[in-house]
Amino acid sequence: MEKTNSELNSLENRVFRVILFFIVGLSSINIVSNTIIGFNQIVNLKWAILDIFSFFLIYKERFNKYSIAKLRFYYFFVVVFIFLPLGWFQSGGSKNNGLAYVFLILTAISILFKDKRLRNTLVTILILMFILVISLEYKLPQLLTNYSASYQFHDRLIQIPLLLLANYYLLQKFAMAYEEEKEKLNHYSSELKKANDKLKYLASRDTLTKLYNRRAFDQEIKSIFINQSHRGKAISLILFDIDDFKSINDNYGHDIGDQVIIRLAELLKLDMPANSFISRWGGDEFAIIYSADLVKAEFYIKNLIYRIKILQSDELPFITISAGITELKSTDNIKSLFKRADNILYEAKESGKNNYILA
Ligand code: GH3
Ligand code: MG
Repeated sequence: MEKTNSELNSLENRVFRVILFFIVGLSSINIVSNTIIGFNQIVNLKWAILDIFSFFLIYKERFNKYSIAKLRFYYFFVVVFIFLPLGWFQSGGSKNNGLAYVFLILTAISILFKDKRLRNTLVTILILMFILVISLEYKLPQLLTNYSASYQFHDRLIQIPLLLLANYYLLQKFAMAYEEEKEKLNHYSSELKKANDKLKYLASRDTLTKLYNRRAFDQEIKSIFINQSHRGKAISLILFDIDDFKSINDNYGHDIGDQVIIRLAELLKLDMPANSFISRWGGDEFAIIYSADLVKAEFYIKNLIYRIKILQSDELPFITISAGITELKSTDNIKSLFKRADNILYEAKESGKNNYILA
């Protein structure tokens, strides 16, 4: 069964693949250098086995019914229980440097497991295995293959720089993978923030006019009362409703009705003081938190009424509005404020529409 791309490209799998390629390269270098130094070819047997085994896993990793984490687990055990003791006694035990790779590679593989207990267990097994082979070397030295000082010197000359390079290479790979993941995470969190901002925007806006919707308006007025931000500065509430809007729809069609609402919404933004809040409260009803006193709010409405009159020059039907304008008092709560504004809007409608009342 072929693995999906995301499974194959997880950070752990990518690093494991790097380790496998690295081992293939390392085993091959060891085989070549052992041959050049003139070691008995039997020494190369363990490297050849590791080489072939790692190569096999690189291939197997793609087409395997097992999970890749399980493959990593088996690989660890084969190396620790077969390759390590075999290599140890065959290549001169603690006098040989090549096996330091084994420690490096197996530690790197252990780190790739997500489960902390499993990681600790694997590293403990590795340490115990080293203690076992060192003890066996001490108790049963006849198990070791011995090499001359000159062989050992040449071996070290190649193995130690190689080991240092391997160390550097693996650490660098981990650091690069870490950086890559960090960048990805930064990217995802900024995408998430953007999506979140968009969602917040959509939830607070009216789709037709892009003005704030009733929900956002209710939150805003609540926060004014919670933060007592109406104390010490003048704030007015303007409620207005288009007169006889039903007949606009009936006579000109719903689309023209929409155009009227959109154009009206644009007009509302003109001469609006900072910190004011315009919302489409209902179908043809608008609520404005106007950051100024009643006198300025009245001036604003007069201007608005004038501007609405010239809407006709845009070939839109003539409309009028009725409004109730009231200033927030220190004794007000949301309910009393709205009752007052609603009442005067109702009065304005009752008194013949196309009118505003102050309170
Ligand atoms: P009144 O002067 O008493 O306000 O009369 P009215 O006809 O305006 O009545 P009312 O305010 O009760 O009705 C509002 C109408 O606005 C009803 C509905 O068909 C229309 N309306 C509400 N939302 C929209 C909209 O998004 N687009 C359009 N084209 N019409 C809408
Ligand atoms: Mg109306």
